[in-house]
Amino acid sequence: MVVTRFAPSPTGDLHLGGARTALFSWLYAQHHQGKSVLRIEDTDRERSTQASVDVILDALSWMGLVYDDPPVYQSQRQAIYQQAVESLLEQGLAYRCDCSQERLAQLRETQMQQGKKPKYDGHCRHRKVDPSLPHVIRFAMPLTGHIQFHDLIRGDITYDNQELDDFILVRSDGSPTYNFTVVIDDHAMGITHVLRGDDHINNTPKQLHLAAALGYEPIAYGHMPSILGTDGKRLSKRHGAKNVLAYRDQGILPEAMMNYLARLGWSKGDQELFTPDELIQAFDLAGIQKSPAAFDEAKLLWVNAQHLKQKKAEDLLPLLAPFWQGLGVDEAAKAEIDTTGLVALMQSRCDTLMRLAEETAWAFKPLPGLSVENAKHLQAMDADVFAQVVDCLKSIDVWDYPTIKSSVDELLASLSLGFGRFGKPLREVITRGQSGASLVDLLALLGKARVVAALDEACEFLAKNH
Ligand code: GLU
Repeated sequence: MVVTRFAPSPTGDLHLGGARTALFSWLYAQHHQGKSVLRIEDTDRERSTQASVDVILDALSWMGLVYDDPPVYQSQRQAIYQQAVESLLEQGLAYRCDCSQERLAQLRETQMQQGKKPKYDGHCRHRKVDPSLPHVIRFAMPLTGHIQFHDLIRGDITYDNQELDDFILVRSDGSPTYNFTVVIDDHAMGITHVLRGDDHINNTPKQLHLAAALGYEPIAYGHMPSILGTDGKRLSKRHGAKNVLAYRDQGILPEAMMNYLARLGWSKGDQELFTPDELIQAFDLAGIQKSPAAFDEAKLLWVNAQHLKQKKAEDLLPLLAPFWQGLGVDEAAKAEIDTTGLVALMQSRCDTLMRLAEETAWAFKPLPGLSVENAKHLQAMDADVFAQVVDCLKSIDVWDYPTIKSSVDELLASLSLGFGRFGKPLREVITRGQSGASLVDLLALLGKARVVAALDEACEFLAKNH
């Protein structure tokens, strides 16, 4: 069975790169009817916070990445790491090192001056370092030969073992390092495939050597190209990239986020729009591109608009609720209008839930009074003509779209009035110009009582302001 994992370090928000790593790992497992697991890499006690864990879990669950098992926390696995390091020490596959910071700094400098890549020189490999004095524990890297692995995305990669450091497994304060814990846990959790960012590529030969020393079967690795901004530089806040939850708060739909992130570095033919199920069906490693992908907020908004259009209006109501609340719409007002009809009317004109809430909130609030500023077209209208419009609308008995439409068409023909000269003032009367939706749709949606009240108010206004 395919088992993948997402292994965030909880030192901040979940950003787009991390979310994409989580998504690709999850999709790959889902596609193969396997499973994906979560591991919180919180061994760095100073930088890891519970707030960050919460934000990461919240963001993953918002995106719809469902994990069967509860997350594994590395901070709870100290005893396992301890046991593994002791066994490596006993077998001579790891060693204690008490080199001072000064010596290491000196070594580094000399190597750099000689144009060499800085690397620990193995000084303590065969020394007997007193375990009761401060020390680190290093991995005894093979000194000759090379290591090759087949990267699932980049193909064969070879490293000369001489290039690899005797990296630290346990720091002097007793805490295990990333490269150590990751190998123990990937094995313990039965991980078969690791998909992660290419910033980890140089860790892979170290992890493979350590896994071999521990007698583990090698697992498969795939390193994903990074995400860049539109200027070709590594994606950061400068490019307007936000943490994942900020997109939720802006009114991006989770399925749109999933769709957009999936296409950020992966493709299937020229298909742009996918439902989550379609992504699971279609996802494959062959579709992951080797070159970096560029983040483009305009495209995210476009993808979101397409998903918004596709959704049933009634399914959007609970998603819109917090946005309406933020705009001061009260629950009782929502009951007075055909909210679903209103959303259906506007959903294809907006690219986020926030915009959709903003474009519809006016309908739940009392209209501002008519004024010289918000009723310019009305004011310019001939009072007699307007009176005929009012009569016509008031005389409609069956208040539905087709009846309103035919009555209005008849009236306009008899008055020889263009739709613009009729529509603009009427829009001011019924929405104060706050909605761009089709006028007849709006009339039908608002209901006769509301429209008639607005028309009466407009007549009064015209009588005073002509
Ligand atoms: N905790 C590491 C990170 O957040 C995980 C790297 C890995 O996937 O091995 O970068």
